[in-house]
Amino acid sequence: MTHSKLSYYAELLLYPIVIVALLLLELARSGFVLQPRWLLALGAGAALWTLAEYLVHRFLYHEVKILKQLHGLHHARPSDLIGSPVWVSVVIFTTVFALVARGADLQIASGGTTGLLLGYLLYLLVHDAVHRWPLAGPSRLHAWLRSCRLRHLRHHRDPQPGNFGVVTPLWDHLLGTALTRRARRA
Ligand SMILES: [Zn+2]
Ligand SMILES: [Zn+2]
Repeated sequence: MTHSKLSYYAELLLYPIVIVALLLLELARSGFVLQPRWLLALGAGAALWTLAEYLVHRFLYHEVKILKQLHGLHHARPSDLIGSPVWVSVVIFTTVFALVARGADLQIASGGTTGLLLGYLLYLLVHDAVHRWPLAGPSRLHAWLRSCRLRHLRHHRDPQPGNFGVVTPLWDHLLGTALTRRARRA
């Protein structure tokens, strides 16, 4: 669906607040020292995000009919503000939090969800940068974002499916879907 600017960028406003709230709650709970257990869960959540991003894009957005149609709109008009409504991600992250809190405990759920949200925020920013930001600067950040842009635009344009990772090419390389120049020639 096509969004207004406010609803398209709503997640970029909402999730930093949620992340800070989770961090403050954990600090208050643990006597203002972040415990290794929470930090480990955060690292695991962030790493897991990169795999979730790859799997959702490859198997849900490109294989499930209704989602494929919606995602196809983004492929056809990458500059338009097309995306899922905010409540979808809110429901998903809340469910993950509740399930982990139930299966493990609140501290792991808090750290893990914070990591997932950090990964998701980075994905939103990188995907926006790839399609909409001017990236001509000499900084390392711009150089990295230009490499993300090159990789993602190849995903948009190449007739062969691949390059599903936006933030990192890791899972494309591990799971054999990286679109390299050699693969294109072949
Ligand atoms: Zn796609
Ligand atoms: Zn895109």
